[in-house]
Amino acid sequence: MRRPIIAGNWKMNTCRETGVALVAALKAEVPAPSDSVEVVVCPPYPYLGLIAAEAAGSGVEVGGQNAWYETSGAFTGEVSCEMLQDVGCQWVVLGHSERRQINGESDELINTKVRKALSVGLKVILCVGELLDDREGNRTEVVLETQMTGGLVDVSAEQMASVVIAYEPVWAIGTGKVASDEQAEDAHRFLRGWLESRFDGNVAAATRILYGGSVKPDNASGLLGQPNVDGALVGGASLKPELFIPIIRAGETSVS
Ligand code: PEP
Repeated sequence: MRRPIIAGNWKMNTCRETGVALVAALKAEVPAPSDSVEVVVCPPYPYLGLIAAEAAGSGVEVGGQNAWYETSGAFTGEVSCEMLQDVGCQWVVLGHSERRQINGESDELINTKVRKALSVGLKVILCVGELLDDREGNRTEVVLETQMTGGLVDVSAEQMASVVIAYEPVWAIGTGKVASDEQAEDAHRFLRGWLESRFDGNVAAATRILYGGSVKPDNASGLLGQPNVDGALVGGASLKPELFIPIIRAGETSVS
């Protein structure tokens, strides 16, 4: 059984007060680690320590939205994987489409970060997903294959126990245009098949693949009910407890 994960990417949102209020509301809902759903929040860097302290002991885990691949040194503006751990993060999101598009991150750079994060014991949510042009040009699978191959260079089958894949079609992120249940399931099935050919059947069966892109309470059950969809990476709706909590509940009941 793959325990569903509902992860919230707060992006560059919240402040000290709203972030604490948000995690307090989630903590009340998931007061202890649960066998039926894993909840992760990814606040902006300045609030990570505060939110991690607030979430400590509850069923809410904390992750960074990005990280750098060196431990320390002259990398102005960057934050290392060790620093994320030091302030209480267990997770890091890498390869988000906004990092790929706005910051020009390549698969090679993302892979360097993935390997570094795994080497220090952080769990990784690796994001992949096609642009609208790719989908319309029937290149979705080629794009996914390229991003998976590039992002997972030199990652071993054992290390895959600490990797979660997030399939996030770029055209669905923050647009309100959600992938249909069938489009999501097709992409997830493809990704699981890729994992089987790159690693083996055990890795393919155990790796959790999240869907991300305009997940809301009204579409969560359909998406999360797909056999190869093991949770959600949620942006906008993760900022409001009244939207995020029903998505957590949908995740909880999605285990077949
Ligand atoms: C995201 O940022 O990863 C995301 C999926 O955003 P949204 O839910 O707002 O589309």
